[in-house]
Amino acid sequence: MAVIPFLFVLTTKAQKIMGFKEVNSAKQLYWEKQFDARLSAQNMDSWMHFLTSHPHHVGSPQDKANAEYMAGLFRQWGYQTSVETYEVLFPTPKIRLLELQGKNSFKAKLEEPSLKEDKTSGQRSEQLPSYNAYSSDGDVTAGLVFVNRGVVEDYEELEKMGIDVRGKIVIAKYGGSWRGIKPKLAYQHGAVGCIIYSDPQDDGYARGDVYPVGAFRPKEGVQRGSVMDMPVYPGDPLTPGIGATKNASHLELKDASTIMKIPVLPISWEDALPLLKSLSGQVVPDSWRGALPITYHVGPGKEMVHLKLQFNWDIKPLYDVIAKLPGNEFPDQWIIRGNHHDGWVNGAGDPISGMVSELEEARSIGELVKKGLKLKRTLVYCAWDGEEPGLLGSTEWTEDHQVELRQKGVFYLNTDGNSRGFIDASGSHSLTPFFNEIADEVIDPQTGVNIKERKYALAMVLADKNGRDKLNGKKNIKLGALGAGSDWAGFLQYLGISSMDLGFGGEGPGGEYHSIYDSYDHYVRFGDPGFKYGVALAETTGRAMLRMANADVLPFDVSSFYNTVNEYVTELKALVENARNETEQKNQMIGDRLFDLAKDPVKNFNSPKVKEAVPYLDFSNLENAVAKLKKSSAEFQEQYCNATQLPADKLLKLNEILFKAERSLLNEKGLPHRAWYKHQIYAPGLYTGYGVKTLPGIREALEQRNWNQAQENIEIVSKTLQAYTNQVQLAINNMR
Ligand SMILES: [Zn+2]
Repeated sequence: MAVIPFLFVLTTKAQKIMGFKEVNSAKQLYWEKQFDARLSAQNMDSWMHFLTSHPHHVGSPQDKANAEYMAGLFRQWGYQTSVETYEVLFPTPKIRLLELQGKNSFKAKLEEPSLKEDKTSGQRSEQLPSYNAYSSDGDVTAGLVFVNRGVVEDYEELEKMGIDVRGKIVIAKYGGSWRGIKPKLAYQHGAVGCIIYSDPQDDGYARGDVYPVGAFRPKEGVQRGSVMDMPVYPGDPLTPGIGATKNASHLELKDASTIMKIPVLPISWEDALPLLKSLSGQVVPDSWRGALPITYHVGPGKEMVHLKLQFNWDIKPLYDVIAKLPGNEFPDQWIIRGNHHDGWVNGAGDPISGMVSELEEARSIGELVKKGLKLKRTLVYCAWDGEEPGLLGSTEWTEDHQVELRQKGVFYLNTDGNSRGFIDASGSHSLTPFFNEIADEVIDPQTGVNIKERKYALAMVLADKNGRDKLNGKKNIKLGALGAGSDWAGFLQYLGISSMDLGFGGEGPGGEYHSIYDSYDHYVRFGDPGFKYGVALAETTGRAMLRMANADVLPFDVSSFYNTVNEYVTELKALVENARNETEQKNQMIGDRLFDLAKDPVKNFNSPKVKEAVPYLDFSNLENAVAKLKKSSAEFQEQYCNATQLPADKLLKLNEILFKAERSLLNEKGLPHRAWYKHQIYAPGLYTGYGVKTLPGIREALEQRNWNQAQENIEIVSKTLQAYTNQVQLAINNMR
């Protein structure tokens, strides 16, 4: 039975929500209050307790049990629920050996000890040992070289120092890039093995007290993680572009291009210390130093390192939970929500903190529907398996259902780990005003101001004088751009479904990430005591889902998209100009022998080589495309204000154009060297991984000084923007 005390709402201030008719705004706000009132931190706590009670990585009994448990909850709350399974390549370690040979011989422990203060850390027989998934098998003995973070700039620095890693094993610090970039670059520079360790400077004793006294990584703590070459394509390495169902045709292992070509092993700083101590040769540049009590040398040392790794290359099942609440008016328009449920070990912070918030959100919405809330569009709640190894569950599902999703997908909202602190929001830029309206409504549990005010306060406090002058009074949250790092890739970058990623954080830092210490015990002490930010996250994401589901006109904003793209184009033009000036200047300095005269003659130093001059690129088609988009977006804004008044048939058509506009940002041929990534505005960097590259086709060609490819991609992006503007024009004509 429906209880509809709308009078209460109508007598308070009339607040209008983007995309809602006035009368519907009032109803919506009423239901949002009801939604908030039902959220329970206690539920999140008890679900986390259960879901993290045993290690729940891909292929483990608890992984399957968790999927079935959550499916049961969704059913109980009235959702049409299924568990969809896929069969994917998931390697686990068989042999892990790392030793230093010679007079200071040493064998790495590769073990994280159980702690009495952490109840689940003792489940040794169920834990995956520390390893990097999709490392290759290998048995190599070689000299060792320290490569700092192992990113592009570090190899440039090594070249200047006259250090060659060919035939060597490299050791890199975690951080500075997604971990998979480190072995990929090492391999491309000729290294035969790669070791990655957690320096205490980043998440250990240099940051705070270590676990179990404080939250930070103890000396034996290891960060597990995938090194699949996800910037090429995510998901099962054997089934790119198709769902890994039982009968899918599979690549042979040797043809799977996303598997690393050399052995890679993550280790603790305790295991890294003797290796780093064995290095001689030059002292590292200042910025490469970590927090260990040694002089950091680049190497190589006199002693050899032996690295032997062997994996079980097994096919394992994935369990994706898919739960739907069908819409009453537009059941074929899907508002999709997801968080992954698999962890590397007990995975409390990552991912269960986000998962339990999504569950509580879904429970509350399920109750509202029972109380009479009518959903216009269909809600699809997902709990993904296999995110940690390589976005497996979400990618296989989006590939498997691509035809239907291209038709029906309106919006995808992702979360992952959540903790105490500040809202972090990234997404398709047409969603900027939509998100900011929501951020006005959600109250920060620690300070009582809304989450936007709190974020603004932090930004002002952290900014320098210049930054403050720019920021002053501008409280609107600017969405970050989505690269890779969690389950939106299939939706946004493969299918062109507008997406967002949300989470709180910044005040729950620690060193438990991807270790056996990411546990319930750790999370409730340091992550989000009392699950207050679990509730705040549900208030934020639940509003986003409910507003998308019931808006009269979908809340996509063309001018926010235009503003962002315009900024990106300006950035790229500046990038070319800067490259040209810098190249000219450096070439001149080389000609004048300045590098030779400035170097310390007792140190190894190779002067940089003369670089090819930067040609002038023709941005005119791109600039014209941006100018047209600007004009159309202004017209669109004018019409959009009154769009809720349109007759039903026009509204229906308008909404379809609006959510499919993001599809026109795809190019079916994909980005250079990675056809899977079709979105022309956002992609993970080929050499940064998580780090986003905007207008990636152009930007990466510029960074690689491939001027022809840059020019080709300028033309491709111009056409892409023109296609988007055509959609905007269609929308405008439809609103007239
Ligand atoms: Zn995660």
